[in-house]
Amino acid sequence: MLEPDNFVVREYFRKRIGDEGLKIMMTVPEGEITDEEIAKLSDTKLTAVRKTLYRLYENRIAEYRTERDDNSGWITYLWRFNYTNVKKIMEDEADGKLAELNGQLEEEQKGVFYQCGCQRVLFEEAAADNFLCAECGANFEYVANDDLINSLEGQIAKLEKWKEKIKNE
Ligand SMILES: [Zn+2]
Repeated sequence: MLEPDNFVVREYFRKRIGDEGLKIMMTVPEGEITDEEIAKLSDTKLTAVRKTLYRLYENRIAEYRTERDDNSGWITYLWRFNYTNVKKIMEDEADGKLAELNGQLEEEQKGVFYQCGCQRVLFEEAAADNFLCAECGANFEYVANDDLINSLEGQIAKLEKWKEKIKNE
């Protein structure tokens, strides 16, 4: 099972399919499964499972086919996760986030930052205002951003490692 175990990607799925969807996605095994079986496995109410399955369907994460019982006329929905799409969605999300983080890292690396009581600005802005903030009246003081740079580099490395892992799954 492809688990969205990276924080960034898990949050993305949580936003799109909710906590229930995430729970279902992470408990359902590969292969076809009915909504009743999913409800039992994930310990979720059937109505909630159905609602979630349609949301997964709309997001092209889950697919279904129907089977009709010739005697009773009863229709069974057999659900299946589209792992190719899930993988693609995860990779796209990771790529988007990586681009954002790399952009942020670049800005932090080339900029020199100053801080007052209300905002953080670039050296150029602070200098243009004679190092005095017009908003809060405080002086702009130099702030080191090494910790922020380290944190961004850490997040980027983690996300890249996770992407590599997904690719090989
Ligand atoms: Zn200020």
